[in-house]
Amino acid sequence: MKHACVIGWPIKHSRSPIIHNYWLKQHGLAGAYDKREIAPDGLNDFVAAIGREIAGCNVTVPHKEKALELVDDIDETARAVGAVNTIWADAKGVHGANTDVEGFLSNLDQAAPGWDRAPLKAVVLGAGGAARAVVFGLISRGAADIAIVNRSFERAEELMKDLGGKSRAAHFGELRALLPDATLLVNATSLGMQGKPPLEISLDGLNPKALVTDLVYVPLKTPLLESAEARGHKTVDGLGMLLHQAVPGFEKWFGVRPKVTPELRRLVEDDIARTS
Ligand code: NDP
Repeated sequence: MKHACVIGWPIKHSRSPIIHNYWLKQHGLAGAYDKREIAPDGLNDFVAAIGREIAGCNVTVPHKEKALELVDDIDETARAVGAVNTIWADAKGVHGANTDVEGFLSNLDQAAPGWDRAPLKAVVLGAGGAARAVVFGLISRGAADIAIVNRSFERAEELMKDLGGKSRAAHFGELRALLPDATLLVNATSLGMQGKPPLEISLDGLNPKALVTDLVYVPLKTPLLESAEARGHKTVDGLGMLLHQAVPGFEKWFGVRPKVTPELRRLVEDDIARTS
């Protein structure tokens, strides 16, 4: 029986076991998936055991960057983003990938088909790990312009230099001038997440045709999405990204490519409602 898990520190609130155990049951597979709290000083030993005691794992905060150095090879996306969130082993060794990019793109493809129609002009709020995945994904879809707006301007500049594409760094003070041309607005900061300060921006002047998406999924309907909806914008929440980023890992460990179904989404939504 194959075994996989999600590792993090802490890991209590991870919804990954709900997702993978739903798929295991749906496909009638004799596998198991759980969550394991791994402290930073235990990460080396854990990764060294992959392929023997465990088929692989998802990796979350704070291990995504360190995990990149511990696997035998990484995919192009993990290299560009600078983080690994999925690990599996085969005869050639232990491999690391970043599936947040696929999660971000597939979520929008499913929820808002045609969202990447040219000209794709994006405003991305944030310059952390999640924003890196978003910017890499937008470049891969041929974005004509990506403004990276971040509290720490240097971090936005670093992201822009690392990933290239038609991106530029900007301050929050420039947002008002950027919104009229945007066809996509993405919140990739942690602002608006339960327990964090709210994201306090005005959507005044935002292109009426712009799609608005938030990577935060607790709460599901963030204040950003609420105010975008009130202005008549199409919105997409961050839960779909979590569900879609899980697909490649499941396929690697258990050999079946699973689907993100409405039933799975409802299961995780119920858990969020119950536990937050
Ligand atoms: P990081 O810690 O790497 O980055 C956090 C970002 O938020 C930075 O841009 C940071 O700005 C900004 N930020 C934090 N606090 C403030 C503040 N008080 N004022 C202004 N800006 C602030 O986190 P991640 O990039 O990994 O994650 C970002 C969010 O995306 C999280 O909420 C996470 O849960 C979510 N996420 C969702 C996923 C999904 O599947 N839906 C997948 C991955 C992440 P600065 O650089 O100036 O510090």
